[in-house]
Amino acid sequence: MATRARSNPDKPKAAPKTPRRRDPAEPAASGQCLCGAVRFEIGVPARWAWHDHSAASRRAHGAACATYVGCWRSRLQVIEGADFITRYEDPETRAVRSFCGRCGAPLFYERAHAPQMVNVSRALIEGRTGREPRYHIAIEQTPDWAYLGEPLVPLKGFPGVVWERPGRKKRRDPGLI
Ligand SMILES: [Zn+2]
Repeated sequence: MATRARSNPDKPKAAPKTPRRRDPAEPAASGQCLCGAVRFEIGVPARWAWHDHSAASRRAHGAACATYVGCWRSRLQVIEGADFITRYEDPETRAVRSFCGRCGAPLFYERAHAPQMVNVSRALIEGRTGREPRYHIAIEQTPDWAYLGEPLVPLKGFPGVVWERPGRKKRRDPGLI
């Protein structure tokens, strides 16, 4: 594992520890953050995969929702850049979110009630994980601006841009979800 001498007084804790090294003979999927400083592997198939529509994950990712691959903690291994990983613990839920301290990419999401699991940002992983994200959590918290697959048409004069024609969007009634 690459180590770099960096002093970061804001870093609350060390990077997530893996209790044992992942079995090198096990099939793996590789992932990395935006800048490439942090690289990791998870054993595949992963445990499960899911879309998280909660307000907390929306803010943590700066996106309409976050998609995670849940894997056993022992099957996640940070290959490179552990010193770049910064952790934030939510004071209310005690959930810990890790992100790259250099590029800000959200990496891992550990929930207090499932300490043996680590949820990994799906979008950072190349290739397949052995699990499709078929599950949705907190879908009632989906914002009304999220794209839900509405029909799109080319925008005249802007090659490569498609858009949703006004008036087509149906407001969702949260009570019906
Ligand atoms: Zn990075």
